[in-house]
Amino acid sequence: MAVYHDEVEIEDFEYDEDTETYFYPCPCGDRFAITKEDLENGEEVATCPSCSLIVRVIYDKDEFMKGEVVPEPTSSTKELLKS
Ligand SMILES: [Zn+2]
Repeated sequence: MAVYHDEVEIEDFEYDEDTETYFYPCPCGDRFAITKEDLENGEEVATCPSCSLIVRVIYDKDEFMKGEVVPEPTSSTKELLKS
C-alpha cells in the first residue's frame, strides 16, 4: 500500500508547457513530477526523481480525460423541448 507524503491539488503544481509536466517542490530539494499524459490516464501519483517520496495529486479526472467539456442538455431540458 502506498504511503503518500502529502496530497496536493493540481492547482498548486507548477506546469511546464515544454515538457507537459506538472511540478511540486519536494522536501529533499528536488521536485515531484507528473505528466499531463499521466493525468489523462487517470494516474494520480507524482514521484520525486531524487528520493522515494510520493504525493497524491488531487484533480478532476473527468476534466483531464475528456478534454474540453461540452455541456449537454439534460434529459429534463430535452423533454421540455419536445413538448
Ligand atoms: Zn524528493
